[in-house]
Amino acid sequence: MAKEILIDPWGAVLIEDYRRVIDEFGLQPLDDDLLKKLSSPNKLMRRKVVFCHRDLDVIVEAMRRGEEFYALTGITTSAEKLHLGNRMIIENMCYFQQRGAKTFLLIADIETAVIRGIDLEESRRRALEFHVPSYLALGIDPDKTIFYFQSENRAVMRLALTLSRRITLSEFKAIYGSIGSGKIIASLLDVSDILYPQLEEPTLGIIPVAIDQDPHLRLARDVAHRTRKEYGFVAPASIYTKFTPSLDGTIKMSKSKPHSCIEIPEDRKSVEEKIMDAFTGGRETLELQRKFGGRPEICMVFELFKQHLIEEDQKLDEIYQSCKSGALACGECKTAAAQLMGDLMEEFEQKLDEARGLVSDLTFVE
Ligand code: SF4
Repeated sequence: MAKEILIDPWGAVLIEDYRRVIDEFGLQPLDDDLLKKLSSPNKLMRRKVVFCHRDLDVIVEAMRRGEEFYALTGITTSAEKLHLGNRMIIENMCYFQQRGAKTFLLIADIETAVIRGIDLEESRRRALEFHVPSYLALGIDPDKTIFYFQSENRAVMRLALTLSRRITLSEFKAIYGSIGSGKIIASLLDVSDILYPQLEEPTLGIIPVAIDQDPHLRLARDVAHRTRKEYGFVAPASIYTKFTPSLDGTIKMSKSKPHSCIEIPEDRKSVEEKIMDAFTGGRETLELQRKFGGRPEICMVFELFKQHLIEEDQKLDEIYQSCKSGALACGECKTAAAQLMGDLMEEFEQKLDEARGLVSDLTFVE
């Protein structure tokens, strides 16, 4: 019997079969017809790293008609660095922001307190010194973004209190599995964040997330339907990215396995060591590689090229073909990946310095 798929927004998630996730949770695959309708899809969409969605077609149609919609994402400050998965969410947020989305960036400081035990002052420090400028460094336009801390946004708090009377413990358990008081608080706030932009006026919205965050979207959409009479909420749309796998080829990158996880920022030497150690689809010997070719489909280095390091599809295809033909050896391939990742880190650090200078001018909703 197939193992149950566990989707825990706060824990390690192992997904071996993304197709099964789509079927089990009623998601819609990102198919070629919809992809063609997206205006200049980004590389994550073109390569189906964004592999499924809920109601993206509605947002595509809204963009085509020039209608208003919003995009929202949240920052948790449990770590003092970003990971590559954060970078993909920001890339998707930028995509919608550049196409007219009213953009919301919130710091989930209460969630981080109740789940990870980081107090509000420390969260604030981390957010202002690192996380918020990092999001700006990676492309979020501060002039087109509304910022807030969960703990300071009274409308979000009031909404969470109201919604607490509209969701039963059985529903929490059905969506999240085992859940305690801290996770109930966090999920109520997540749902309130997702719906908050509609409090003034119900409007379409899109939430780009990694697949492990889908439980929040399921609950938010249920709640939107259920409270339609009072608030007029429209069920928010969502898109889902696959995980950046661990460099050892096992599960998503996790900080509990530091050597298999690339963080942002990280120095050139450190990323080089990790990439040189990564699991590849190469053969046992160079001779066998030349004869049978490599296996980019299972290679973590190729995954880095695909998700993060190569923008042009043609260039990615050239790497794929020369790996398959055996013309490319893993050593030179890893060296090239390490060089690109080192460049990416240096560019990030430079932009981060510039972005830090912008933070004191930002306004946070209260
Ligand atoms: Fe992976 Fe590159 Fe080796 Fe191919 S040549 S298996 S893409 S490291």
